[in-house]
Amino acid sequence: MTSALSASNFDQQHLWHPYASLPPSYPNIVIDHADGIYIVTQDGKRLIDGMSSWWASVHGYNHPVLNAAITTQLGKMAHVMFGGLTHQPAIDLGKKLLSIVPVGLDAIFYADSGSIAVEVALKMALQYQIAAHRPTKQQFASTHSGYYGDTWHAMSVCDPVAGMHSLYGNQLPMQHFVPAPPMGFERDTTQQERNELTAFFVNNSDKLAGFIIEPIIQGAGGMRFYSPQYLQLLRQLCDEHDVVLIADEIATGFGRSGKLFACDHANISPDIMTIGKALTGGYMTFAATLCTRKVADTISQSDYPALMHGPTFMGNPLACAVACASIDLILSYDIEARTANTQFVMEQQLAPAANLEGVKEVRCLGAVAVVELNEAVNMPVFQSLLIENGIWVRPFGKLVYIMPPYIITDDELITLCQALLKVVSAYLTQVSLIAIG
Ligand SMILES: *Cc1c(COP(=O)(O)O)cnc(C)c1O
Repeated sequence: MTSALSASNFDQQHLWHPYASLPPSYPNIVIDHADGIYIVTQDGKRLIDGMSSWWASVHGYNHPVLNAAITTQLGKMAHVMFGGLTHQPAIDLGKKLLSIVPVGLDAIFYADSGSIAVEVALKMALQYQIAAHRPTKQQFASTHSGYYGDTWHAMSVCDPVAGMHSLYGNQLPMQHFVPAPPMGFERDTTQQERNELTAFFVNNSDKLAGFIIEPIIQGAGGMRFYSPQYLQLLRQLCDEHDVVLIADEIATGFGRSGKLFACDHANISPDIMTIGKALTGGYMTFAATLCTRKVADTISQSDYPALMHGPTFMGNPLACAVACASIDLILSYDIEARTANTQFVMEQQLAPAANLEGVKEVRCLGAVAVVELNEAVNMPVFQSLLIENGIWVRPFGKLVYIMPPYIITDDELITLCQALLKVVSAYLTQVSLIAIG
């Protein structure tokens, strides 16, 4: 017990956590280990994981196949520089990726995290436009409610209101924003919405190197689902106006949206695509930026043919090896049927939440379910209810959402959903009592 306490005291005083103050406003929970769908706290509480550790741990924890892949590779080499050298795990992963990503993507840049993959995508698009002799095309466009990472240029294309723009003010590069895609996977785009997006391209495309978007599911910017039609229109407008379409599949990739890649819902291929998060099944930080042969060749045949990026840990062999094993597992799942079933069970189980006072909407797509509240969650109160009820979920703002590991059984999923329903209901009662009291 003493060690548990001291570990958390040290954490409180010295370790920054994501988007948190130091010391944090409420303590972080010390985790001892994780296995399958369970995260186990240091004092022995087993929590069903509803988050897949932010879209990443899709096969659950301590998976024997992934463990084996990484330990086998460890016996050969943990790392070797990618400058001037290459290796089988990088080649194997490249072949596997090109066989499953949307058609046309043909060249791969291995990056060390999602944000870096986005930085590389933006650099790639800009180098491409310069190489194609369109020197005025230097800025980027995106929609409201997007999230692309926390590094400088990734941040500049994130939602300009809810994102971090206000904090860093005019130091962020100027980009262009259109309204968020209208909400609803099955909702058709209206003629007026089509006209507005078209007008934006007509008026701004001379300045635009690229348009970046999270296909179908906007994640950390609002957990919003939108129509494949919107993506098809965007593809068409980017083609007509020589704007590079960058699809950020870091969250949606590898099955989460109900298709292997969210672009597959719209049957479109982006010019550049970023992947990360579930790429290694949640084992290592790793990501990639892919582009078409046209983008790669245009850069390569220009006066400055090198793509100017090169992380120290580029193409890390452990990450490549475990990514290969993770993709094989996903391909063995019949992922579309599995996520369709997950969506069905979550829809059924969470539907009653829509009737609770304080809940705005319940929505599901693929293996993602969102319970949107009217007010932002009081985290310490909500979190202690979660722990009491044996589940791990991490809301942000008004959004309580789950994206469980693909290995979860129907019974376990029902347990997770019912516990979540109980937590949301108890929480809303508690805060309304506090408000009255
Ligand atoms: C998480 C995320 C990123 C950033 O990835 P990191 O690995 O956290 O840097 C970028 N884009 C999207 C869509 C994401 O969900």
